[in-house]
Amino acid sequence: MHRFFISPTAIHDARVLLRGTIVHQIRDVLRMQPGAEIVLLDNSGNAYRAEIVMIDRDTVRARITDQWKLETEPTTRLTLYQGLLKGQKFDWVLQKGTELGITRFVPLLAARCVIGNLEDVSDTRLERWQRILVEAAEQAGRAVLPHITAPLLFAPACASAAQSGLALMPWEGERSRGLREMLQNVDKSKELSVFIGPEGGFADEEVALAQAHNILPVSLGSRILRAETAALATASAILYELGDLG
Ligand code: SAH
Repeated sequence: MHRFFISPTAIHDARVLLRGTIVHQIRDVLRMQPGAEIVLLDNSGNAYRAEIVMIDRDTVRARITDQWKLETEPTTRLTLYQGLLKGQKFDWVLQKGTELGITRFVPLLAARCVIGNLEDVSDTRLERWQRILVEAAEQAGRAVLPHITAPLLFAPACASAAQSGLALMPWEGERSRGLREMLQNVDKSKELSVFIGPEGGFADEEVALAQAHNILPVSLGSRILRAETAALATASAILYELGDLG
C-alpha cells in the first residue's frame, strides 16, 4: 500500500483533506480512484489507513479507517556528515541512508570537494534532496522523516558534532583504531555522528582539526572504499552492531 507523509493539519477527526503535490501523485502518477486505500504518516509516529473518497482538480478527500503507532525509528540517532559528491552519488547516499535508518544528514563542504563554495549548492539541489528523503522514507515506512541541514563548511561541522555524543571519522589513513572496537561501549540512546569524505578523501588538516574536536579517526579495514560505499557500509555496520538492523 502506498505511504505518504502529510501535515497533521490535513486530518480532522476521521476526515482527510489533501492538497498540493500529493494530489498530483495520487491522481496523475498513481492513477488512483475513489475506493483505493492509502497509508498516511503524520511525521510524529502515527500511521493512518485511509480510503479515498473523492478526487478532484486540487484536492483529494479520504476517510480514516484505522490508526496505529509506527515503531520503525532506530534507537540510535545517527547523523551522517557527508562530503559533497559529484553527480548523483550524493542523492544515492541520501536515498539508501534513509532506508537504512540514518536520522540526520549534514552536507559537508570539505577541502577536496569538487564544488567550490556553499553558494554553488543551488536551491533546486536542496529541494531535490528533500524530495529524495521524503520518497525514500515513505518507501521504507519510516515513522519520522530524516532531517537534512543546509550544507556546512568543515570547521562549523566539527564544532557541531563535538557537542553531541560519539563522533567518528572513517579515514583510510588510520592504522590502529577500527570502527568495530569503537562501538563496543556506546550509549545507544545518545546521538552518534559519522564523517565521510568526498571522492578525494579528507585533507590532513581536516583530520587534525577533527581530532582536536574529539572526532576520532577510525579504519574501515584494509581496502579503500568509494565515498558512497564507505557511507553506507559505516551506517550499516553501526546500526547492525547497535541492534537496529536485524
Ligand atoms: N583519498 C583516498 C580515497 C578517499 S575514499 C584516495 O583517493 O586514495 C572517500 C572516503 O571514504 C574517505 O574520506 C573516508 O571517509 C572513507 N573511506 C574509504 N575507505 C576507507 C577505509 N578503508 N577506512 C576508513 N575510511 C575509508
